[in-house]
Amino acid sequence: MKIFTTRQEVAQYFTHKAGETIGFVPTLGALHKGHISLVKQAQQICTEVVCSIFVNPTQFNDPKDLEKYPRPIAADIAMLEQADCDILFNPAVSEIYDDNEKWHLDIGDMEHLLEGKFRPGHYQGVMQVVNKLFNIVKPDIAFFGQKDYQQFMVISKMVELLNMPVKLVMCPIKRETDGLAMSSRNIHLTDYDRQHALILSKALSWVKANFNAGNIAQLQQQAEQMVSSEPGIGLEYFEIVDGDTLKPATADTKKIVALVAARAGKTRLIDNMLI
Ligand code: AMP
Repeated sequence: MKIFTTRQEVAQYFTHKAGETIGFVPTLGALHKGHISLVKQAQQICTEVVCSIFVNPTQFNDPKDLEKYPRPIAADIAMLEQADCDILFNPAVSEIYDDNEKWHLDIGDMEHLLEGKFRPGHYQGVMQVVNKLFNIVKPDIAFFGQKDYQQFMVISKMVELLNMPVKLVMCPIKRETDGLAMSSRNIHLTDYDRQHALILSKALSWVKANFNAGNIAQLQQQAEQMVSSEPGIGLEYFEIVDGDTLKPATADTKKIVALVAARAGKTRLIDNMLI
């Protein structure tokens, strides 16, 4: 695997590679099998796969969260080598941002719903960095996880508004055998948190199993109750929404997604399920 830390190295490498289909998997690192499943999916349809590891400061609204974000770069490199990834792009913050850089793109309501209410500014930071990374890597196809469903919708909106020449693919959520969605943040969970965090996927599965289009509000309330009464779990939201607009689902909604965010001890977790 080639490891590049500058934009120039990436640009230079690809000038000699006409006719390739470049697949791109952007990450914050602390890789797990969920990330690797994106690399594997990219390898199915692309001739060169680039993974980036960049803990993007502009998408963290909480400086403590940024500081404690795990950065096990040696283990990450080993996992990517093992997965036969072609290129790792691992830039420093100064390679991506100049001082006092400004970014804002109006994508309408979507930015302020769900995660947006609890992480103000988060999606502007996500769009800012993904826009930069797309301009550097120039991928034909970029792969994102359903795990961050709203993020996928936000990036799709940006790509549409800015007419970016990239196709986006959403990859399924990888879970531990007991249902917990894999996440880089799971390493912060104590045994107690880990055990009680299972209520997130349990509540989502319960909604899916008991879904009734005529009774969405009540289902949502019951799921909220289920999560918030779990010891050690602090519910932020549990919502059943239209998968295209992220606004509350109604009896006529075709594509329905249930999404949840909660704190397990000090660790903030998100999960979702297509209903
Ligand atoms: P992150 O490093 O958390 O920003 O994640 C990088 C990419 O991996 C994003 O597109 C995530 O949605 C995706 N991802 C994270 N966790 C999982 C998972 N459990 N299954 C599938 N994809 C995931």
